[in-house]
Amino acid sequence: MFTDFSLDRRINKAIEELGYETPTPVQSATIPLALEKKDLKVSAETGSGKTAAFLIPAIQHFLAKDAKDTGTRALIIVPTRELARQVYKTLQQLTRHTPLKGMIIMGGEDYKYQHSLLRKNPEFIVATPGRLVEHIERGNTDLKDLEVLIIDEADRMMELGFNDDVSTIAAQCKKERQTLFFSATLKPHALSALADELLEEPETLLLNTRRDQQLHIRQQHILADDKKHKQNIVDRLLYDESFDKCLIFTNTKVETDQFSAFLRYKKHHVVALHGDMDQLDRKLAMDQFRSGNAQIMVATDVASRGLDIEGIDLVINFDMARTVDDHIHRIGRTGRAGQEGTAISLVGANDWARYTNVEQRTKQILSRRSIKGLEATFTGIKKKKKTADSVKKRPVKKTADKSKERVRNRKNKGKPKRAARIPDQENTKTPAAETETASERVIKSIPKQGGFAPIKKKKKVDNLPLDLDEEHDSD
Ligand code: AMP
Repeated sequence: MFTDFSLDRRINKAIEELGYETPTPVQSATIPLALEKKDLKVSAETGSGKTAAFLIPAIQHFLAKDAKDTGTRALIIVPTRELARQVYKTLQQLTRHTPLKGMIIMGGEDYKYQHSLLRKNPEFIVATPGRLVEHIERGNTDLKDLEVLIIDEADRMMELGFNDDVSTIAAQCKKERQTLFFSATLKPHALSALADELLEEPETLLLNTRRDQQLHIRQQHILADDKKHKQNIVDRLLYDESFDKCLIFTNTKVETDQFSAFLRYKKHHVVALHGDMDQLDRKLAMDQFRSGNAQIMVATDVASRGLDIEGIDLVINFDMARTVDDHIHRIGRTGRAGQEGTAISLVGANDWARYTNVEQRTKQILSRRSIKGLEATFTGIKKKKKTADSVKKRPVKKTADKSKERVRNRKNKGKPKRAARIPDQENTKTPAAETETASERVIKSIPKQGGFAPIKKKKKVDNLPLDLDEEHDSD
């Protein structure tokens, strides 16, 4: 029961009005420790009730200890604008009977207006990293009094290359603060490095595995031959399936635009959502879909994380997601709060490896179905088994013979080796030392001005998608 947490009556009232009867597992585990001001590293999915899990303790602290004339007291960093809006909405709901104030900082919205709100030092800021860094760099924010820093969807943040921004932001915050770190997975090494940087002696909470959460989502796959075939299958599904809201995922922004245009041409009422759309259009699309004005949304993975839209009972993967994690997030848009949902994945030859990977890693079967009149000729890719014969028959490379045949080797026969021919070296030097000196000479001989500088290796961002058209919010 929420009453077990001894929360301020104004919070309890808001919780009651929201209709939350009992705390979810993530709330039961997180709230008591967060109320003790411990740093926490929590693996929890969206849909598990984690927003309230991190907001309630902060609200409780601020109501218990009034701090007038201070800067912002809690900062929540999230990877996408849609998620920022969603967290802010829950914040408004939970603080509605209190004097506490919050604001959103994110790209695509009026910078000056945000600046003016920042001057009022709201207790809570919900922000996407890029725009917040901009405000920090121009000295608009005061995070010196910050008591709670919350990093939400840290794994997604890392995938989108926001690590450095998050570090920059954390460096501006008061050192003696509480930090809560939420992520769907805590596994990748780089993620734990970020957590180590931000948290002090954290408690780690691993909550309900994704597999357990998604057992109530019916998963199916349909084989497809090519894009045109996939388009026709979805067109038919949208006419035949009964659903309240359907979310269709594609892997690229271009595909999202093209496919939503195709569906409109086929007389479906559909909205599109991807990160290249301007903020107003994104908001309009979300509002249309949320309100049920448009029953169908075609989107990139910008819609796969964190969004809590009521009533999505059908998810279609036009393409299989690039990673198993993304697949899990996509299908998690349906079956929210324990309700039933269906997720249908279209699997062509290009999707096959991803599809088998999803089945193996999640240990769930995506049962096969076909659509009458639209059956695929593609029947899947069979794994070649290694038989004893096939191993024996493989020709053995004769490396020694081959190298003797090389023309270069024949020409150089009898000539001294290259290292030994460098003339001006001291006789005592080893070949390694000689090589080093030679390369040093090359670097010195590059003219300082008007010449070219050695190309710097680009910093690698872990898990950053390779496809340039792929989705992310840059601010
Ligand atoms: P979240 O994981 O924070 O996105 O929350 C997912 C959904 O669960 C939201 O619609 C919340 O309003 C709802 N929710 C959160 N906590 C509870 C609770 N204790 N009981 C019922 N629903 C909840």
